[in-house]
Amino acid sequence: MQRTRVDLLSLLPNELETLSQRLGVDRYRGRQLAAWLFKKAVYDLGAMSNLPREFRSRLAEEAFIGVPQVERITPSQDGSRKFVLRLADGARVQAVIMPDRDRLTLCLSTQVGCGYACAFCLTGTMGLDRNLTAGEIVGQLAAVRQALGPDARVTHLVFMGMGEPLANYEATVKALRLFIHPEAFGYSPRRITVSTVGLVTGIQKLAKEDLKVNLAISLHATTNAVRMELMPVNRGWPLESLLAACRQFPLPVRQRMTFEYVLLDGVNDSPEDALRLTRLVRGLRAKINLIPFNAWDPSRFRRPPLPRILAFQALLLEHGITATIRWSKGEDIGAACGQLKEPRLPKMASA
Ligand code: SAH
Repeated sequence: MQRTRVDLLSLLPNELETLSQRLGVDRYRGRQLAAWLFKKAVYDLGAMSNLPREFRSRLAEEAFIGVPQVERITPSQDGSRKFVLRLADGARVQAVIMPDRDRLTLCLSTQVGCGYACAFCLTGTMGLDRNLTAGEIVGQLAAVRQALGPDARVTHLVFMGMGEPLANYEATVKALRLFIHPEAFGYSPRRITVSTVGLVTGIQKLAKEDLKVNLAISLHATTNAVRMELMPVNRGWPLESLLAACRQFPLPVRQRMTFEYVLLDGVNDSPEDALRLTRLVRGLRAKINLIPFNAWDPSRFRRPPLPRILAFQALLLEHGITATIRWSKGEDIGAACGQLKEPRLPKMASA
């Protein structure tokens, strides 16, 4: 019988210790292993020189290091770069790095495709192929680190690539723990943002995890009628229940919840929408991130003209609501918000 091997990138330091012990060496070998993987970004057992040779060959039998293969890197004029990554089973996902002054933000995928079919989102046209494992989520950072070399340091992580993080809850939370754990990647949770289509049960569960990461909610409309049309998820979780869950979410001090709002010409960009939006978020420690629609073919939506975008923002600001405009990166290379899609590999004929 063939045993499934474990992905070392999916194991927390204490789990690496337990594995080491099971393979007949001291627990501290697990911490050394964690240092190689997460701190030194070494993904080759052969190069882990302080580990006994015998232990490394046992590891090679029982485990693997699942760094996705970089199939393509497409640079954008604005400095961002799109990584097309190939997973062990041939599935492809995209990850995007976006430099901004002293920041380098990595946008990660959590699923191959997405099942939520938001009308304005290109990934939504793919449907859902499968969830990523925790190892495949953190593996995206590993692949990017390997490609960029030791000098470039990813400073911020956003779960805003392909897929819905809270629909792949267990793997997403495990990946978050790996990113945050001081002896794993060691990121401050304040530098990590999880974006959700608005899965209320997922938000409620996340509230109990004590992860302290930033939460972003894809709101995109101010009435149920419009939101229903744009986001089928609104049928199960309408605005009232979504905002109630947001109000109950325990925000760490000085942290604010982000509401993402894609601006679609003539659909959700009127002054009335802006006013309703101020009422929806009233009393919440919130900031609004306006995302002018990123076009893709053959979408039926358009980006509003610039004056309308600015007028929408101005109305929010007048009402004391923090509102920024996210001029997406990587538009020219199809790497902007909601532009991520990879053609599927032809399915193998089953024998
Ligand atoms: N599933 C998660 C992550 C999705 S992508 C979520 O729904 O939040 C991150 C953001 O880009 C979401 O707010 C999404 O609604 C938005 N988006 C999708 N398509 C877009 C497009 N074509 N133009 C601008 N923003 C888009």
